[in-house]
Amino acid sequence: MKADEDKCIACKRCFPYCPMGRIHTFKRHDKIPGRVFIEIDQDACTDCGMCLRANICPVNALHQPEDPWPREVRRILSNPFIEFAGSQVPGRGTEEMKTNDVKGTFLPGEVGIGIELGRPGVGAYFRDVEIIAMALMGADIGYQLAMENPVTHFMSDKTTGKLRDDVLDEKATSAIIEGKCKLEKLPEALAVLKEAAKKVNTVFSVEVITKVSPEGNIPIKPVLEKLGFWYSINSKNNMGLGLPAFNFYGGGK
Ligand code: SF4
Ligand code: SF4
Repeated sequence: MKADEDKCIACKRCFPYCPMGRIHTFKRHDKIPGRVFIEIDQDACTDCGMCLRANICPVNALHQPEDPWPREVRRILSNPFIEFAGSQVPGRGTEEMKTNDVKGTFLPGEVGIGIELGRPGVGAYFRDVEIIAMALMGADIGYQLAMENPVTHFMSDKTTGKLRDDVLDEKATSAIIEGKCKLEKLPEALAVLKEAAKKVNTVFSVEVITKVSPEGNIPIKPVLEKLGFWYSINSKNNMGLGLPAFNFYGGGK
């Protein structure tokens, strides 16, 4: 995101809309001595478009340049109004966890593991995303990546989790690594993530996705409780709008 310095009157109205908190005022003396301008930290800005969409600039000074690759990756991951061509979904992840009832992506005995880096308010450089992805893929847990996910798409080696070198210095408001493994590998996966957390310069949360049994049991609960992890039970459902439900206990559709 850029602010046109000839238009900007440094009113600061856009400041609170920046989730990265990286719009600042500063003084320039070369053009008009004493005049205050704003500066958007281009390294920290994720091109999420929040400041522009807020539509609060009284002089229309904000504008989003069509920066070429690799900076373009910031917009793809951070601006929810831009659709990622791989998943056909605007935003950072796939819809698999919400559509499990009709797609059967996560079968009984399996867990989806999504790692959401950068939220809230920190952002994540892809070099940190790579550290987490490579830690998971390097562990002997049979982690299978979600192929339609944007982060998977930016991997140069999908067997190791290595990302393309040209995106490593790019940053997103948040990025989600998505995949699944067997339920019995969940403790090992969480141990790997705990260790990898020491090596990244951002925050992340872990989403563990599971099929609730017909009796209403949540298979991951005892595992998380035994390991002492804090968790919050959430449900995300896209009911499929007429699509037949996946027959989890009768061999599929
Ligand atoms: S595009 Fe997003 S990150 Fe960049 S300055 Fe605007 S609100 Fe902040
Ligand atoms: S809202 Fe517009 S005029 Fe005010 S500081 Fe932001 S870019 Fe400048």
